[in-house]
Amino acid sequence: MKDFSNLNKYRFFHWAIMLYMVAAFAWWAILLNKKNTENYHLKNRLIHVDKSFSVTEIEQEYQIQKRMIIGEGLVFGISIILGLVLINRGFWSELGSNRKLNNFLLSVTHELKTPLASLKMIYNTLGNKTIADNKKVALLSIAQQETSRLERLVDNILMTAQMEQSYQYNFEKINISEFFTKRLKHFTSVHPNNNFDIDIKENIYQSVDKEALNILFDNILNNAIKYATRNPTIKIELKENGKEIILSIADHGPGINKEEKEKIFEKFYRIGNEETRETKGTGLGLFIAKEIMNAHKGSIKITDNQPSGAVFDLIFPKR
Ligand code: ADP
Repeated sequence: MKDFSNLNKYRFFHWAIMLYMVAAFAWWAILLNKKNTENYHLKNRLIHVDKSFSVTEIEQEYQIQKRMIIGEGLVFGISIILGLVLINRGFWSELGSNRKLNNFLLSVTHELKTPLASLKMIYNTLGNKTIADNKKVALLSIAQQETSRLERLVDNILMTAQMEQSYQYNFEKINISEFFTKRLKHFTSVHPNNNFDIDIKENIYQSVDKEALNILFDNILNNAIKYATRNPTIKIELKENGKEIILSIADHGPGINKEEKEKIFEKFYRIGNEETRETKGTGLGLFIAKEIMNAHKGSIKITDNQPSGAVFDLIFPKR
């Protein structure tokens, strides 16, 4: 994997070169202006010796050149600064994209290898006839979690690829209270160690794309399960008011810093460093979630939970 940390060291040189160019340019402009003023004074002195000079012509020439130096100097100066800022921005955004892509490849490799390795181990163990029934149940539950993890990874990668080639949303009006209740049944059986506090208001209807809504809900709920390991109580609430339907998923994990609340929706963005991070993922989940909410004309609001954790509000305008 490429090491991008070295490039950060060049950031200082990059800014130093930019500053040098701007300073050198300003210095030339000042020098030129000084020479123009000197020339003006010299011609004014020579006027007594050489009658071909006229006071008004000297004054006019001086003023024109002064305006030229200031005007062109400003245009050049602003263009140089703008150009340098744009190049600088492009360079760092390209570097950021490369870094995120690198992290993504690292995590996809991990996300594929880990469930496959544990599924292989589970099947080998289940092949052993002497294994107790309660152990079999526990192993099957882990196998189910690992299969869901693989499924989610494939779904997220496919969804991202489809979204880039214009995914066709298929909207239909459904009972989303029933839809989420059914999904939650699956989650409670696959994650027996979590404590789900569920409050779903019945018979709320909304026009949605079922497949997309499934992926959206799975991603947000899975994040709550994944990041809130110390206090695994997750509150899921579906409610409506006059204009909106709100699905709220609140966990008691580490929460999300103010500066990260926007960034985590970027493609491949993950908080922290891939080599030292404990939880693995691809950085696609929230990117997809936001795209899906946009397609439903809705939005995602993140607030801080008390005493710790994050609350994800998925807000759908009623339609
Ligand atoms: P992934 O979970 O695969 O890394 P996501 O796009 O789903 O990717 O999330 C982006 C980042 O947002 C995660 O890497 C994580 O740092 C942060 N995040 C998402 N959900 C939560 C949460 N419930 N609590 C704390 N951090 C979260």
